[in-house]
Amino acid sequence: GGFESLGLCSEIFRGVKRKGYRVPTPIQRKTMPLILSGADVVAMARTGSGKTAAFLIPMLQKLRQHVPQAGVRALILSPTRDLALQTLKFTKELGRFTDIRTSLLVGGDSMENQFEELAQSPDIIIATPGRLMHHLSEVEGMSLRTVEYVVFDEADSLFGMGFAEQLHIILSQLSETRQTLLFSATMPSALAEFAKAGLRDPQLVRL
Ligand code: AMP
Repeated sequence: GGFESLGLCSEIFRGVKRKGYRVPTPIQRKTMPLILSGADVVAMARTGSGKTAAFLIPMLQKLRQHVPQAGVRALILSPTRDLALQTLKFTKELGRFTDIRTSLLVGGDSMENQFEELAQSPDIIIATPGRLMHHLSEVEGMSLRTVEYVVFDEADSLFGMGFAEQLHIILSQLSETRQTLLFSATMPSALAEFAKAGLRDPQLVRL
C-alpha cells in the first residue's frame, strides 16, 4: 500500500517524493485507490491527517497535464482563504513536474487579477464559495459544466459558515457525470443531506 503501488505517472510520483512523502498516511491509504477508481467518496478526516494530499494526488494523476480549451476540469471548495492558499501551495508542489494550471479565487484578492488568471484557462480552480459565486455572476460564459472532479474540503466548516445555499447552487451547475469528494471532520445532518443530494453511491471512509 505505498505510493508506488498506486500506478502514478512518473511526473506525479516525482512530485510526491520531492514533497518528502515516503509512506501514505492512513487516510491516504484508504481514499487514494477509491478516488483513482472513479468512486465518489465521503472521507471523515481532520486537518493533520494528510487529507489534502489524499485528494490532490489522485486528482493530479487524473488531470495529468494542461489541456488547452478544455475549461476548468477540477474544482476545490475551501471554507477559508487560508485553507485555499495552503491547498494551492500543495497543488503547486505536488504538481511541480506537470504543466497543470491552477487558479485561486478567494475573497480579499482583486477581481481583476482573478479575471486575468481565468483567462489563462486553468485546469484547477481552488475557491471559497462566495468568491466563486461572484465570478459565476460576473463573468459571461464562465461555466462549471466542464468540471470532472469536485472536492468539498472541510465540508462541515463550509456548512457551519453559512455557505449552504451557495453550495447547493454550485452543485446545480455541475455536470451529472462529475466525480465528487467530500472531506469532513464531522457529519452534521445538514451535511449528510447535502452529501445525499450531491454524491452518487459514495464510499464512506473513516479512520
Ligand atoms: P493535512 O491534513 O492535509 O493538512 O496535512 C497535514 C501535514 O501532513 C502537512 O504538513 C502535509 O504536508 C503532511 N503530509 C501529508 N501526507 C504526508 C505523507 N504521506 N507523509 C508525510 N507527511 C505528509
